[in-house]
Amino acid sequence: MNIRFLGTGFGAPYKNRHQQSILIEVGDYSYLFDAGAPVCDILSFAEYDMSRIKTVFISHLHGDHMNGLNDMINLAEFFNIRCDVYLSEERGIKAFRDYTYMQLGRDSDRVDFKLISEGLFYDDGIIKVTAYQNGHMKGLPSYSFLIEAEGKRIYITNDLSPELCDLPDISPDMLIIEAAHFEAETVISKCNQLKVDKVAFVHVMPPEKYDDLKKCNTNFIPLYPNDGEEYVI
Ligand SMILES: [Zn+2]
Ligand SMILES: [Zn+2]
Repeated sequence: MNIRFLGTGFGAPYKNRHQQSILIEVGDYSYLFDAGAPVCDILSFAEYDMSRIKTVFISHLHGDHMNGLNDMINLAEFFNIRCDVYLSEERGIKAFRDYTYMQLGRDSDRVDFKLISEGLFYDDGIIKVTAYQNGHMKGLPSYSFLIEAEGKRIYITNDLSPELCDLPDISPDMLIIEAAHFEAETVISKCNQLKVDKVAFVHVMPPEKYDDLKKCNTNFIPLYPNDGEEYVI
């Protein structure tokens, strides 16, 4: 699996970090996990063939995780995108269907909206995606994702609750965890309890927290990906 960190920022764009979006490539296909803005620009500037994107997964209905989706819908024909978009709530599906109708004057024949359900909800024979509901949205659906392909496992927390009680006892090959809603020591201590080799920190707020994270002792390999960086697992 190839992991491209397209946007590693927190809610607001900040010096060289865009809103959250992570592209996972398996063979000829790619899968977009969250679509923060300006994901279409980022991929276009990199001359990325967006027709490779098979499915988009939106963890929750906060703008910094879905603001880039509008452009993907509007420019689907231009970029030859045909994909399914999984959203965390029915109201999101309705909103994006209405938005599409507003833009095109009809439903899209290229982008299909579907609902995420807890547990294993996606298996196309190439990747499997399991949704774990987390407490970030205080009663509304918000999900972390376990992604399995080619015998490897990646867990993306997306946004969590400030209590950090919604990270299950998992042991993926790579954990991609947010660090906006808790102190550096808290998140490092939690990760130290897991059996995980590599932990990538994204969505770090405030940006000065990178320094705090780097000062902590870890029993895993800590990664601090910048926008545009790629990792192979
Ligand atoms: Zn966020
Ligand atoms: Zn959020």
